[in-house]
Amino acid sequence: MTLLAELVQTSEHIAATAARLGKVQTLAAYLRTLEPDEIEIAVHFLSGSIPQGRIGIGYALLEDAAAAHATRATLSLQGVNSALAEITATQGAGAAARRRSLLRSLLARATPGEQSFLARLLVGELRQGALEGVMIEAIAAAAGQPVADVRRAAMYVPGLGALARVALLEGAEALGGRVRLELFSPVAPMLAQTASDTGEALELLGGTAAFEWKMDGARIQVHKAGAEVRVYTRALNEVTGSVPEIVAAVCAFTSETLVLDGEAIALDRLGRPQPFQTTMRRFGRTVNVAELAEELPLSAFFFDCLHDGGTLVARGGSERHDALARSVPEPMRVPRLVTSSAEAARAFYEAALAAGHEGVMAKSLGAPYEAGGRGASWLKIKRAHTLDLVVLAAEWGHGRRTGKLSNLHLGALDPATGEYVMLGKTFKGLTDAMLAWQTRALLERETRRDRHTVYVRPELVAEIAFSDLQASSRYPGGLALRLARVKRYRDDKRASEADTMEAVRRIFAAQGGQSGA
Ligand code: AMP
Repeated sequence: MTLLAELVQTSEHIAATAARLGKVQTLAAYLRTLEPDEIEIAVHFLSGSIPQGRIGIGYALLEDAAAAHATRATLSLQGVNSALAEITATQGAGAAARRRSLLRSLLARATPGEQSFLARLLVGELRQGALEGVMIEAIAAAAGQPVADVRRAAMYVPGLGALARVALLEGAEALGGRVRLELFSPVAPMLAQTASDTGEALELLGGTAAFEWKMDGARIQVHKAGAEVRVYTRALNEVTGSVPEIVAAVCAFTSETLVLDGEAIALDRLGRPQPFQTTMRRFGRTVNVAELAEELPLSAFFFDCLHDGGTLVARGGSERHDALARSVPEPMRVPRLVTSSAEAARAFYEAALAAGHEGVMAKSLGAPYEAGGRGASWLKIKRAHTLDLVVLAAEWGHGRRTGKLSNLHLGALDPATGEYVMLGKTFKGLTDAMLAWQTRALLERETRRDRHTVYVRPELVAEIAFSDLQASSRYPGGLALRLARVKRYRDDKRASEADTMEAVRRIFAAQGGQSGA
């Protein structure tokens, strides 16, 4: 039986260690001491999450519940986990009081150090999301497996806790066995980083790259086996019933088994893209689908092929595209140009914009498909500078906005420190509906407040348009957004998928700026 106190000590030790290797070694040594049933719990806690997902405990409730404490550490990992499971399961009439009393009894059994750890864990302030990479290395070290194998398996095993269990308990063979794409079991889509222009993208990708139109629709992953076709969203929800025309089109492809990655988008009669919100009307609808499909037909444009008779995930981008070109007719593929010419890339980008699209994606020709990864082998280039930033806090509005949380504090994760770095504030671009929604959503995530500002768990991601970045002594990253405006909330993205300080610094450098940070 492992005590919570040992985990808290490990967590403190990691936080105090600057070197990545040191963190990995501490974590790996700790993971090796755990009993089988403790592995998943410990990996969750150390990653700043709990096995139950959201528990809905806010700062105020915690303060109220932490009246008494223990003087000796006796709480076990299993004990804490069972208490959290019971709190989560307590729903319905009278639940609030019962949850409070369960929480009080848990905290009364914790020492002050453990209480502070649990409080940060429960309100989501452990901020160790950036430790994912470190955790994967530690799991590999603890299991005595190559990091690359564990990283690959991570694409197919849901969650780090489950990954650690497989690696530590089942060993190399099981890990290898998981490294497989299965039909009708969707994998997390590969994500992109940001480049400031086509020239920079070419350089970052080694001089030659594929450029593709970036269409602003909905990501789809389509699996086919014979006459059976299923369609999944970026969040891996099945939406087969919402998109009959895409199902019919893919069904007609001659390849027997296929997994395709692409974008579904509503085009107008002239073939120009409709706004993102219009495309989204087609998803989530379960009644009168045929009627809506007639009024607002969707087109599918595929850009990757992960399986064609066999898995292609580990193959390079060019090879996967060759498979795509063999299986999918050209009108259903995203327009693409492979070039090493900066002028040709630029002209291709201009053509994408002229056709009404968001910009282009630049892709490495050799890199494998990184399911769920935001690697540097796909780079997006958009006309307006936009960044997907995390909301860290919001200020109460004035005048017409009194009673609403309005001015957003925005930040990006610095992967080096695991901290969110604030880059600026904005209340521009928010509609009344967005204000009402964000006030509710932010209050649900409140961690503390002062007179003007409510601070929140860093969970909400907003797409922010801005004119440029400025050197600034006011903000800790030394950079500030100019003329920032909210474009939309990215409810399809988690904070760990938002842009990081690396992208921000690259945009600043491309502007000709010298980063002070
Ligand atoms: P973003 O969501 O802004 O990070 O950009 C990535 C998204 O662009 C992907 O998830 C796709 O939904 C979309 N996209 C549009 N065209 C392409 C393309 N040619 N290749 C990859 N992704 C694309």
